[in-house]
Amino acid sequence: MVSKQELEIIRNIPFLQYFEQEDLSEFVNGGKKCRFEKNTLIFNEGDAGKTMYIILSGTIEIFKQNKQIAIRGSGDYFGEMAMIELKPRSASVRALEDVLLFEIGQDIFDCFLNSNTSVVKQFLQTISGRCRVDLDIIDTGYLEMYKSEERYRTIVETISDIVLQIDPEGKITFINSAVMILGYSPVDLIGKPYKNLMGSIDNDTPIDNLLTKRIGPRATSNAETNFKVNEASPIFEFIQKMSFLVDAHGVWDVRNDIVMKKGTQKKFMGTLCIARDYTEKKNSEDKLKEKKEELEKLVKERTLGLEQAKQEAERANRAKTNFLSNASHELRTPLNAILGFSQLLESSTDISLPELESGFLKNVSRSGKHLLSLINEILDLSRIESENIDINFEDLDAVSLIKDLVETITPQAQQSQITLTYEGDTVGPVRVKADELKLKQVILNLLSNAIKYNKKNGKVDVFLKVTPFETVEIAIADNGIGIAEEDHWKVFEPFQRLNLESSGVEGTGLGLTICKRLMELMKGKIGFRSSPGQGSRFFIELPLGKKQ
Ligand code: ADP
Repeated sequence: MVSKQELEIIRNIPFLQYFEQEDLSEFVNGGKKCRFEKNTLIFNEGDAGKTMYIILSGTIEIFKQNKQIAIRGSGDYFGEMAMIELKPRSASVRALEDVLLFEIGQDIFDCFLNSNTSVVKQFLQTISGRCRVDLDIIDTGYLEMYKSEERYRTIVETISDIVLQIDPEGKITFINSAVMILGYSPVDLIGKPYKNLMGSIDNDTPIDNLLTKRIGPRATSNAETNFKVNEASPIFEFIQKMSFLVDAHGVWDVRNDIVMKKGTQKKFMGTLCIARDYTEKKNSEDKLKEKKEELEKLVKERTLGLEQAKQEAERANRAKTNFLSNASHELRTPLNAILGFSQLLESSTDISLPELESGFLKNVSRSGKHLLSLINEILDLSRIESENIDINFEDLDAVSLIKDLVETITPQAQQSQITLTYEGDTVGPVRVKADELKLKQVILNLLSNAIKYNKKNGKVDVFLKVTPFETVEIAIADNGIGIAEEDHWKVFEPFQRLNLESSGVEGTGLGLTICKRLMELMKGKIGFRSSPGQGSRFFIELPLGKKQ
């Protein structure tokens, strides 16, 4: 049944306007409505069918060999030439969207045309007018097609990639001049099987896989393929095959989006291949691979060597530590005897030695003590250096730890008439993450230095603070002799006493070296500021401990 609205559309077709109302109703009754889904081919070029259509809704596309000629929509008509022409249809028609058409067969058409001369005249006028327009469109269309083909041909002929088209039977239907690099002229290859040209795909894929029907950017891409060099060409003497990276795409008689849709009418026209010379790149890749392997071998050898050297060093270090601890033990035993007897002599009231001898005795005793501390510190340092030392991290109460140490060292300060102060309670409780014994050793050393390298009536202040970086800083400041700028670098170096060897101040030059190593082991820092005559400020920094 044709609706009122549809009837209106039919009535407005130019050549039907001359129909009487009655005839028009009969004409409408003779035709039929039909629906076509989007992308369906309504009829093909060359089709002998004798029907014409009036478009009730939707749009259709008229095309010739993939080239669009016209688009028609509701209230328009097509296929009318089939009614009067002897030749089969000269173009194809496809639904661009779902369409509703009114189909009129030849018989019904003839029936009404025969009886109405004014309609015939009108029809012929309409048709001839339209024909002219269509022909113009076709002409310009072809011209455009020719021009764009020319443009593409120029591009294809100038690029260095080989472009070739293979028909579904595997024959080359087109190839550009880039193939000359392999010693062929394009005409030699047209119509020949593509296997004459392309040898094998590297990774054992059969070459037939190239005849892909796939379309779109993810078609068979990046297949590395060997191309045969023309045996008859002079190049063949030097190189028999060349490696190409081939991109292959399926070619169809309809647009890609239509190919992708299942169930559409389409014809596979062959494969388009674009091949890029890969020989150079492959060679350099091979070279790169070789170099990489060489390098890996070298690294392996080096690592092995390093490992051996490391083991060797570790063994030597262990031997050194063993030697030192044994030696120090052997040295300490007789030394203790020397120290013991000289102290005995010094304190003995029974023996009164002449002044000279008692001076010698004091010297023996002092040198003995010095030797003992030297031996102890060397052993200490060698133990730290061989990393044969465990660090026991604890969250320590920094305030009471410093207080204890200050108390311990106060007698030494008093002996040297140095004022030692620590106002620990100003910051409240502070926890520091460190090894208790090692931290005490470091602070004692700094305190002892601040007293040793001071002046008469000098003073030493201890400070404790928490930094904004979640660390604890302990500083020991003195107003003693200070250190000259040019000697700063020596301070943490072993056995450096900055010309104080004969000053009468006891020391080995190892204390700060040990402090620095201990601070490193505790993940802390040590530093100082000092100027001669004004004093020094040594400070250590350690991670803040957790509150308990
Ligand atoms: P030592 O056993 O000689 O005290 P250290 O390693 O503790 O060895 O110190 C190295 C040298 O640094 C000392 O000999 C001294 O010259 C200098 N030094 C260390 N602390 C101070 C200080 N507070 N004031 C001035 N000089 C110092």
